[in-house]
Amino acid sequence: MLTEKQVKEILKDHCLNLRFHARGGQGGVTASNLCVESFDGYGVCQPKFGAERMGSPTESYVRLSANYDLVRSNEQVYVPHFVSVLDDSLLSEVDVTAGMPDGGWLIVNTTMNQNEVGMTIANKNLNIATIDATNIAMEVLGRNITNTVILGALIRVSHLFTIDQLADAIMTRFKGEIAGKNVKAIKRAFEETCLYENPGGVEIDFKTDTKVPWQQVSLSLPGYKELDPAGVWYCDNKIMRVGSDQVNTGSWGEWNIVWDEEKCTDCAQCWFICPDFAIITEKGEDGKFHMKGINTFFCKSCQNCIEICPVNAIHKEPKQGPGSCAVPEA
Ligand code: SF4
Ligand code: SF4
Repeated sequence: MLTEKQVKEILKDHCLNLRFHARGGQGGVTASNLCVESFDGYGVCQPKFGAERMGSPTESYVRLSANYDLVRSNEQVYVPHFVSVLDDSLLSEVDVTAGMPDGGWLIVNTTMNQNEVGMTIANKNLNIATIDATNIAMEVLGRNITNTVILGALIRVSHLFTIDQLADAIMTRFKGEIAGKNVKAIKRAFEETCLYENPGGVEIDFKTDTKVPWQQVSLSLPGYKELDPAGVWYCDNKIMRVGSDQVNTGSWGEWNIVWDEEKCTDCAQCWFICPDFAIITEKGEDGKFHMKGINTFFCKSCQNCIEICPVNAIHKEPKQGPGSCAVPEA
């Protein structure tokens, strides 16, 4: 298991990814929020809901790093280093280990032992932690809400934050007696977590790329200029265009986003992910649309394209500065 010192070193240059599996109503999203609130660094979390019903499987994702640029991603976590499962009935319904690299930690709220959990998963190079979070929740909180309890187990195997940091986040989020009970529950979970490290002692290889696998986007899809206007106003029987293509979203951005034509492989993923149709494409002789640049009128420097580009053909440069100071003439 990685030591606290090793985790701190890794976080300087890497992003640690977490995924929570829960059922609607069990508080998986709150657990992911608490991770970010407890972490001394940068973090983001995103929930993913299926059918919005109590009891339906849910997922939520967390990215943590000491490097701000590494947590800038709006997509779900595909390669989670730590997966927490709040309800062991999900083990047979959802592929909870999907995308986990060898050496990752699977943390399960269950009364099964680690060998029994191990038999339900295919990858034998994972580490397993089990905790009877339901029992702790019932005894300490008086109700079957295991989201904070499982974080005690997460701390035990990840060292991403401390019990005290989590306790502070809990005291901020929940008030009074309920906050105190949650802190008691996480301390108990920390002590009672059972650990099983993979027999080969395989550790996570943090050089593994955690981006979505590269994929070519169809070049036959049109750009905004070729699309019908989605919104129109009529004025004196004349059509007036409205809609986001009339708005100078580029004025919002704090960075210049720069495209490197030499490196670009024309995969069109930046075009696909750009929220403002700021990627300029032009129809070529082959009848397909090819990347031609970035429209600064629309680019609000959200940096989604930088994150998605598989060949680093887009980068950012400061829009402002250096500052100047007019010296009065003598
Ligand atoms: S930074 Fe990239 S994705 Fe974001 S608005 Fe600009 S071109 Fe589009
Ligand atoms: S800039 Fe990057 S993401 Fe965009 S088309 Fe070129 S290679 Fe693909």
